[in-house]
Amino acid sequence: MLDLHAATSPEVKSAIEKGAVAVLAVGAQEQHGAHLPLSTDTVMSQGVARRIAGAIDGLLLPPIAYGDAWNNEGFAGTLSLSPDTMRAIFLDLGRGLARSGFKALIIVNGHFGNREPIALAARMLKAEIGFPVMHLDYPGMERIAGEICDSEPAAPTFYHADEVETSMMLALAPDLVRMEKAAPEYPVFPAGFGTEPIGLDSFNRSGVFGDPRPATAEKGEILIAGIAEESVKMIRLFLAKLG
Ligand SMILES: [Zn+2]
Repeated sequence: MLDLHAATSPEVKSAIEKGAVAVLAVGAQEQHGAHLPLSTDTVMSQGVARRIAGAIDGLLLPPIAYGDAWNNEGFAGTLSLSPDTMRAIFLDLGRGLARSGFKALIIVNGHFGNREPIALAARMLKAEIGFPVMHLDYPGMERIAGEICDSEPAAPTFYHADEVETSMMLALAPDLVRMEKAAPEYPVFPAGFGTEPIGLDSFNRSGVFGDPRPATAEKGEILIAGIAEESVKMIRLFLAKLG
């Protein structure tokens, strides 16, 4: 694996010649309650991306530390990029990687709001220049969380500043976690949630969805390893199709 943050140009040149695939984590600058930092989604996605790049001998790109987090803008510190800006970033990076001779790009997305711009950019890169992009949203997370977590999620597949995310942060960046401030909140979702734009601060006080208190670094490691393993299986199938 080569980390582009630390690599030199000749090292990257030789990785490209050997057919390396680029791996890009996409996070967000978004509130995660009183006990997790605003960088949570970036730290987590880069942690998983690093594991994946290691397994496939890929080239790990510096992560995108901003995302489309409009529905958390009612909480201080959240800073969003628009979907158009996000899509433009992925298009620019995809075109650049294609021009540099990379075989494909794997996007490891750590934030729900980024899904649409990533999927659209992947579609455009394929249609316009035939550059293959695979985008992953933590495959296996729901299954593993169901197996090892002691608390229930606030809503199905909704993991935000809860036991899942706090465990992953304890495994990846324990110095950034304030466990003494971890407190549960199970908000009542408004009837129209998902059918109209609703800011999360309109029905949640703390920014936490679920119960972070049972989180441990051990659970986080199981989640990260399991998600990476599931991702690598899917990536191998994707790359096999490319030949
Ligand atoms: Zn998050």
